[in-house]
Amino acid sequence: MGFSLYIHIPYCRHICPYCDFNVRAVKQVPEEPYLEGVIAELQLYKEKEWHAGNTIETVYLGGGTPSLFSAKGLGKFLQSIDVLWPIASNAECTLEANPGTINLEILKSYRQSGWNRLSLGVQSFSDENLKFLGRDHTAKEGIEALEFARKGGFENVSVDLIFGLRNQTLENWLQDIEKAISLQPNHISTYNLTIEERTIFYKQYQKGKFQLPEDDVQAEVLLQGRAWLQEAGYETYEISNAAKPGFRSRHNLNYWLGGDYLGIGAGAHSYSKECSVIASPEGAKQSPDKSSTSGDRHAPAGAGARDDKMVDERSFSHRWWNIRNPGAYLQKIKEGALPLQEIEALTEAQALSEFLLTRLRLQEGFSLDDFESRFGSTQRELLQDRIKPLSQQGFFNSLSNQIFLSPKGIPLLNELLVKLYDSGA
Ligand code: SF4
Repeated sequence: MGFSLYIHIPYCRHICPYCDFNVRAVKQVPEEPYLEGVIAELQLYKEKEWHAGNTIETVYLGGGTPSLFSAKGLGKFLQSIDVLWPIASNAECTLEANPGTINLEILKSYRQSGWNRLSLGVQSFSDENLKFLGRDHTAKEGIEALEFARKGGFENVSVDLIFGLRNQTLENWLQDIEKAISLQPNHISTYNLTIEERTIFYKQYQKGKFQLPEDDVQAEVLLQGRAWLQEAGYETYEISNAAKPGFRSRHNLNYWLGGDYLGIGAGAHSYSKECSVIASPEGAKQSPDKSSTSGDRHAPAGAGARDDKMVDERSFSHRWWNIRNPGAYLQKIKEGALPLQEIEALTEAQALSEFLLTRLRLQEGFSLDDFESRFGSTQRELLQDRIKPLSQQGFFNSLSNQIFLSPKGIPLLNELLVKLYDSGA
């Protein structure tokens, strides 16, 4: 079975005030040494025969701002990956790009060099919203980026938008959705602004410098946005993601469906159900019993950890992540070692809570038979007992074997998960 490859680019032109990803602001990206380091990291996994003989089914270059890298550099980079580890002929190869860092010529070159899906960090089509978010591009540049993408040959384009902004009304959000729909990207991701510690927004918010919409407004914004997308022919296949038929993100679906993925680059996260490859990590901490914080938005958040050995019959799966500092990351690779920061071995309870967390984000939810095949009939019975009263209150729907959130349950996923977990899986 193949796997997904995520590559993290930890550089941006400046740091947005809400951002808690693993990024550094730089004037000039260290393109060559960084890409060479990432390829060297991939080589280390290959030597250890992780997923030996398997092909890469999806590649995702995220960040950060990968579009600060030259088209020539990223073209050569994709070829180097393919030489080292075959990329499937029908692979989805996504490149993240920010408006204001690209033009038609650059996008044409990216496309010609094999990147076949473009994810644009548009965030909003309102200059006022963009200013609040501290973005360094304009609404006009966001629209142009989509036009360049089409003219540059990308037939699979995704747009990121953020809602739940300062004083944002339903009407203001629907204007963004309407504009996005009118431009017809194949895929639209809509993220709720969250105030994370260690961000400028966190300090400002604590000091009361701005307020965010009340929970009921946020819920309405989320549900109305989804309804409009559905009316316009988009499948709202995940809480934050909508796609035209045939354009769901294969890379992200692999995360949500519990497939193996390898994350390389500074701070990148990986997940595998079989990972003897890192059974004897040099210098990597075995994680204590705490949740991991993800340095990249692409990996699902960790579900906690314990300090077992890596290869543990009782462990359901493993997660590990790299050193966040790009300089220290590159140094470790120069020394010929995997640049691991920490490793978690997931227990059954952690694997179970992660299963529910990721599957319930999907429109289709999960099948009870699938759940039972992983966690056994006793856990199935327990889960059904816990879901029953919540279904009677209208938070879950079911169709024969399939359990999924109702519209009423969608904005309350986190609260519902606590009710399911707290019953002690
Ligand atoms: S939000 Fe995106 S563009 Fe802004 S600093 Fe973070 S990674 Fe860079």
